[in-house]
Amino acid sequence: MFTITKEVYFCYGHRLMNHPGKCRHLHGHSVKAAISVTQESLNEQSMVCDFSDIKTCVEQYIGQYLDHNFLLHKDDPLAPVLTANNERFWALEEHPTAEVLSKMIFMHLKKAGFNVTQVELWETASAYASYRES
Ligand SMILES: [Zn+2]
Repeated sequence: MFTITKEVYFCYGHRLMNHPGKCRHLHGHSVKAAISVTQESLNEQSMVCDFSDIKTCVEQYIGQYLDHNFLLHKDDPLAPVLTANNERFWALEEHPTAEVLSKMIFMHLKKAGFNVTQVELWETASAYASYRES
């Protein structure tokens, strides 16, 4: 079994509505996503796949939906305020945690055909969430 991991970096703002601590306030993160792709055997170039293919796929998604965006839960009362002020945001079905974001990135890569096995979302230098299916 071979695994390669590609790291990409981006920024977002969010808040965790109803969080008992400071995460309920508006704040942002400069994060690293580490995407792992696995294959039983290597391709004709002796690779799992090209790192740049992962980068292109994930950066297209992150650029469109996550980078420099503001992520809220769909029931967050801030959503109408942001709309009224022409601010960009994305209201998610779930709370916009590192866990949820790692799953969203995972699902995008899976749908694009990558044999993605894990996505880590490093919210700080010492804390990350990850999503995998097995
Ligand atoms: Zn946060």
